[in-house]
Amino acid sequence: MEYGESIQDLISFLEESPTAYHAVEAVARRLETVDGFIRLQEGREWRLEMGKSYFTTRNGSSLIAFRLPRVDYRGFQMTMSHADSPAFKLKGKAELAGEHYVQLDTERYGGAILSTWLDRPLQIAGRAFVRESGQIVSRLVRLDGHVVIPNLAIHMNREVNNGAVLNPQTDLLPLYGDGAAKGELNRRLAAHLGVQEGNILGSDLYLVNDAPACVWGPHGEYYSCGRIDDLACAYAAFTAFERAEENPFSAAVYCLFDNEEIGSGTRQGARSTFLSDVLRRIHCGMGRSEESYFAALRSSFMVSADNAHAVHPNHPEKCDPLNRCYLNGGLVVKQAAGGSYATDGAACAVFREICRTAEVPVQYFANRSDMPSGSTMGCCIISNVSVNTVDIGLPQLAMHSSYETAGCRDADLMIEALTVFYGASVEAEEDGRFSLTLPRPKPEAL
Ligand code: ZN
Repeated sequence: MEYGESIQDLISFLEESPTAYHAVEAVARRLETVDGFIRLQEGREWRLEMGKSYFTTRNGSSLIAFRLPRVDYRGFQMTMSHADSPAFKLKGKAELAGEHYVQLDTERYGGAILSTWLDRPLQIAGRAFVRESGQIVSRLVRLDGHVVIPNLAIHMNREVNNGAVLNPQTDLLPLYGDGAAKGELNRRLAAHLGVQEGNILGSDLYLVNDAPACVWGPHGEYYSCGRIDDLACAYAAFTAFERAEENPFSAAVYCLFDNEEIGSGTRQGARSTFLSDVLRRIHCGMGRSEESYFAALRSSFMVSADNAHAVHPNHPEKCDPLNRCYLNGGLVVKQAAGGSYATDGAACAVFREICRTAEVPVQYFANRSDMPSGSTMGCCIISNVSVNTVDIGLPQLAMHSSYETAGCRDADLMIEALTVFYGASVEAEEDGRFSLTLPRPKPEAL
């Protein structure tokens, strides 16, 4: 059996999205040119119409798209995932030039497994702001060529295989070139952007692993690539959003947030007002009262899709004895008593019904009781937009490595489940009951 109908498409998305700016640009381009969505500027007045589809971005690194039903809607069916991944960020003045070497001054972005970034080609990518015809313009950057963070030879560090500690300021600065490379970074950046060096006014540049993805296993059951957390979920949720049939009861909303890896606390992250601003503008744009906005939130549901830790083949003891998941075993519902995942019994019940309808297997994840849990966007978003939320994910290995591993089948399962989700609507009653309107079932096979 060959795995993964959509794996090549997913891999293309991973490879064309070295940073959140590129991921948002890829999704925006597709929405605009393939799906016919209308691009809205946050800084302009919106004139929305029922039956139409729109999207907007904030900071070029977060995106929210929505599709309005033709006649009316009761609430919002929403998914979110994150566009950023751990990396190293170049400081404002990055070039450390010596007689024999030019290095780059960087700092950590997010919680990378540091050792996986050594001894491999890394690309410089992100965005730059340039002066152009009297304006300041944001431009995507993906420089040709690579840098490397070289390890210290084992002969000079006999402790390297005994859990060596890596200091980000002294052990992890990449080598850019030899002494003759002085000034070369800015020259190459200017040439790449087609501007004079003096017209580059600011930048957000990262070292990223641009190694091509690899599908492997005797049956092609696994794949490895950078940024699987969380672009695999971003891709699957987006594909479902595109595929879902029109929902007569709910507005479909797709969110892609930046900065999850540094706590979501930026003006475009999941803790910001971005989603609540968009939902309120939809509601006002439809001529509705604030009062009805709060009622609509009660008829809304959020799927927060961010990857989960699969059982590691060398370390199965690191997972909970029961609430554990495996690659290619299906979607993962994540729960934590401390609230670091937003899922509760109600959200779990609703999502299980969605998966049952989609005929998608569900796995469960909870941390070992003696291990702290990582938190997700789910618990960030509900402080601004308090809707019933389930935290789910795709199982993966080596989260935050520069080259992660996942199952080829799971993204297809997420697409199936979220396509049903976008066609459904959820209404929460005050007495703890939920009405779940599901899309028409697929015709039975003869
Ligand atoms: Zn993540």
